Amino acid sequence: MKDATTGTKVSVAEWKRNLIRQDEIDRYLVDGKDFIDDTAIESEIERGKGASPERIRAIIKKAYEIKLMDASDVAALVNVTDPALKEEVFKAAREIKTKVYDNRVVTFAPLYCGSKCVNSCKYCGFRCENGSIERRVLSMDEIEAEARVLASKIGHKRLVVVYGEHPDTDADYIAESMRRIYAIKEKVRGGVGEIRRVNVNAAPLPVEGLKKLHEAGIGTYQVFQETYNKKAYAEVHPEGTLKGNYHWRLYALHRAMDAGIDDVAVGALFGLADWKFEVMGLVAHARDLERRFGLGPHTVSVPRLEPAADTDFSWVKNWVSDDDFRYLIACIRLAIPYAGLIVTNREKPEMLRSVIKMCTQRDADTRVGIGAYTEAFSAHDQRENTQQFILGDTRSLDEIIRELASMGHIVSFCTAGYRCGRTGKKIMDALGSGREGCFCKLNAVLTFQEWLEDFASPETKKIGDEIIDKEMKEIRARVPADFSEPMWEHLVKAREKILAGERDLYF
Ligand code: SAM
Ligand code: SF4
Repeated sequence: MKDATTGTKVSVAEWKRNLIRQDEIDRYLVDGKDFIDDTAIESEIERGKGASPERIRAIIKKAYEIKLMDASDVAALVNVTDPALKEEVFKAAREIKTKVYDNRVVTFAPLYCGSKCVNSCKYCGFRCENGSIERRVLSMDEIEAEARVLASKIGHKRLVVVYGEHPDTDADYIAESMRRIYAIKEKVRGGVGEIRRVNVNAAPLPVEGLKKLHEAGIGTYQVFQETYNKKAYAEVHPEGTLKGNYHWRLYALHRAMDAGIDDVAVGALFGLADWKFEVMGLVAHARDLERRFGLGPHTVSVPRLEPAADTDFSWVKNWVSDDDFRYLIACIRLAIPYAGLIVTNREKPEMLRSVIKMCTQRDADTRVGIGAYTEAFSAHDQRENTQQFILGDTRSLDEIIRELASMGHIVSFCTAGYRCGRTGKKIMDALGSGREGCFCKLNAVLTFQEWLEDFASPETKKIGDEIIDKEMKEIRARVPADFSEPMWEHLVKAREKILAGERDLYF
């Protein structure tokens, strides 16, 4: 790799030395302190124990106002043990999801571009000491080939591009890979296969690098804190490594906002510390973003620790049970009610089915090996030595959409908000008030119809068309209260045009 200013070659060691800018951490501290006070969070969780059912019901009621929850209320919520009361929390979580996002689910695929990594995260197959991983960074042509499979064979419109932390996959590489992906236009059955939104999951970057991603058209920038608990963080991210710097990571999304990226995503890797602490940490993170930028996270991700090739997990003391996992999702749904909630194919199909009504996004037809879509798409195998962890659900997008449709969900491929400038504060305010929901409902119908025409199997097309007919009836019944007559007419015409072969129509 080359130094950006001098054009001379720099070593990996030098790149590592120069990446972290202390002033891009210090500017966000308040009186030298960050927003995670471990002792205060632990005491709050203790104080939250044994809240009365009346208090919990009052907390649930307040959550319908679609505002970030107070820390003391979150602490009370995570401590509920009574099964009947928990059921009330689950019911509210499903209703709040519907209130903000209706019956829509968004699907995406991760695209792993590089497995080279300078870090030593104890839980990750890509950690640099792991000799059993085949190290590879895709060339731009290879990235294009991967994205072509995703866009034209499967029909994805959204990707999350994923990278290890390495100078070979630096900000310039990430920006270039995004440009190559956006440029794809592949002829398919009735229309064009293309990726319309590229989200990025990459290690923390300085503002300068983040501006490059902004210019290349980034959708959402995701950085998971892994664990908000500082002691647990230090145990799994050795000191002296880039990732060992807790603060550099904690303020990655603040820097992104300052670089002009207004859709940012938080997440915690559940299993590294007490899950209740992580939920409190996620809410504290959302609060600090709101306080500084007037805008919380666009989405929250809840990855749970999974086995990885040649990786010892005997040190893990905080495995999250299935019941706790479901409940923590319900708590996040209530605590950060405006945010999208992402579950992934790390989980098994049964788990995904049981939580999807509280969530807004899931991946489908996923491969996490480097080059795996091009290589093994038809074979449907998982080569452990190329991937970061082992997947729980490898079903096709077609199968997943069929299942979601049978559960009453419409899968939306809409990326219009982002392309019309309805991002950041504009979309979050609108979602909270239900206004964006109207656009989203119409766009879900159009983009889902488009996908059914271009990619669905006959079985999926049948059940998908039924869902669309149901949606159309519902929309018609809401004219003129929620939708104007011209909007309805526009929708009917746009659907007809899609059936006749036109594409990319949206409100
Ligand atoms: N390397 C970058 C970083 O660490 O931020 C970006 C992507 S990393 C490949 C994506 C995420 O995978 C990590 O943030 C972590 O939460 C998750 N992950 C790593 N190892 C995992 C495992 N064994 N099981 C489940 N998720 C894991
Ligand atoms: Fe590297 Fe990210 Fe894996 Fe850590 S989690 S070893 S930074 S790829």
